[in-house]
Amino acid sequence: MRRKQVIISSIFLLVLPIVSTDVFAQPTQAAPKISSRYAKVFYQSDALLRLFNKRIRLGSLSYLLKRRVSEELSLKGQVSEKIDIIVERVETILEMRPKELRFDIIITPDADAVRSLYKKIYHRDVEFLAFYSPLAKAIYVSADDIKSKVLAHEIAHAVIDQYFGVAAPIKIHEILADYVTENFEE
Ligand SMILES: [Zn+2]
Repeated sequence: MRRKQVIISSIFLLVLPIVSTDVFAQPTQAAPKISSRYAKVFYQSDALLRLFNKRIRLGSLSYLLKRRVSEELSLKGQVSEKIDIIVERVETILEMRPKELRFDIIITPDADAVRSLYKKIYHRDVEFLAFYSPLAKAIYVSADDIKSKVLAHEIAHAVIDQYFGVAAPIKIHEILADYVTENFEE
């Protein structure tokens, strides 16, 4: 539990309001993508997508996967469905349903890639395994480290951000996103 708390606290979002948008790298623009109801997913190889899919387990929420046997769905279809199920679960936990929720998920290979993207955007060194950028409306994750709870936490930031429509205080963001982490059943 201690260890878990440490890991979760290391993914806390840092919202720096004064960031010029031109620093946003779009390294993934040409990468393959998936469009789910809520998210566009960018990834550089099928291997990364497979790893992401393997690590995102729905557990007790699996019953929400469509009646189709999940193996019959393509890899992209599975990822797309899982993300939308997690989004709707996060919205239920928060009781916040932004009207036009849209965000990107950028799957990077590992934590180093996440951190170097963070540094490029925010000019700071961090130990994060994932983060949400309100300006880019994008969640950056490491395929090596992703878990459903981590994704739910970052999706919570996207939901909170887009529900209020103005930059919510960092503390409010973290309290609510942590509430999602605690209440999200894997
Ligand atoms: Zn956070």
